[in-house]
Amino acid sequence: MPAQLIDGKALAEHIRNDISKRVATLKSQGRAVGLHAVLVGDDAAAESYAESQAKHAHAVGIDYQLHKLPDGGDEAAVADLMQQLNEDTAVSGIILQLPLPKGLDADHVQPLIAPGKDVEGVGAANFGALAMGRPALAPCTAAAAFECLKSTGVDISGKRAVVIGRSNIVGKPLAMLLLAANATVTQCHSRTRDLPAVVRQAEIVMVSVGVPQMVTGDFIAPGAIVVDVGTNRVSANDPDNPKKKKTVGDVVFEEAKERASHITPVPGGVGPVTVAMLLQNTVTAAERMGG
Ligand code: NAP
Repeated sequence: MPAQLIDGKALAEHIRNDISKRVATLKSQGRAVGLHAVLVGDDAAAESYAESQAKHAHAVGIDYQLHKLPDGGDEAAVADLMQQLNEDTAVSGIILQLPLPKGLDADHVQPLIAPGKDVEGVGAANFGALAMGRPALAPCTAAAAFECLKSTGVDISGKRAVVIGRSNIVGKPLAMLLLAANATVTQCHSRTRDLPAVVRQAEIVMVSVGVPQMVTGDFIAPGAIVVDVGTNRVSANDPDNPKKKKTVGDVVFEEAKERASHITPVPGGVGPVTVAMLLQNTVTAAERMGG
């Protein structure tokens, strides 16, 4: 029997409804819920990303503001702005838009964001808190993949989970979330020997590699849950339009769905939930700031 689809769009909507209620409660108490993005220089993709963030934030009642600094600015100007935003109680969350222009190093600038306002969950403080099982703002994509898993309703405790990928923003935090939920976690990467055999042991398979359709159906144990974080643009193989592209995951969906019990599609799986996690972290940050 083909797998049940984990519908990321429906899940994201459900999460957004909950966020809207939490935002309304805070606002009724006279408290602000504000998401502030910092963009240095001109980057069309980052600006359009900011526009999309603003739309999503406004839809759940979160105030959104984009702060633009000119290209060529030094780190001190960014540090000044970050300090202002860190101290402003109307600012619940801060996003640093990437890429930064030449001369600015994200590894220097990102740590300037106060950990309680690091709603993308990319700073070392939140990573450490997550590892130690303390309240943290988890990286949005890892949190989204975990929400997709939880949405199946399957008891995670004691299950054998394999995470393929060990990036700081997805693979590692995902393994920490699974461990916190009492799964038995194996973390795989490019040096893992006989990856298919390791993955075939798993009842839960979480994939964040960035190699299109690397995980074929024979990796998947019958009945496993498969969550695919991969978002890869590849040729659509359209003879009428050789430039046409499509988005595929790291998993061969058509094959894996014949063996899995539940599976995320790409697109329409983890992606839509990731944006919802950013909004969820923002309202969580606002709640933790106190009245
Ligand atoms: P990343 O930083 O490039 O890390 C990739 C990981 O995959 C590394 O740990 C690497 O191992 C491992 N890997 C590479 N080739 C492998 C192989 N042949 N066998 C086993 N492991 C292999 O990537 P990421 O940031 O985690 O992103 C991964 C994918 O998720 C990309 O497609 C990206 O577009 C997508 N993504 C989606 C969202 C979303 O919102 N849905 C957000 C972020 C990323 P080593 O550590 O040994 O090199």
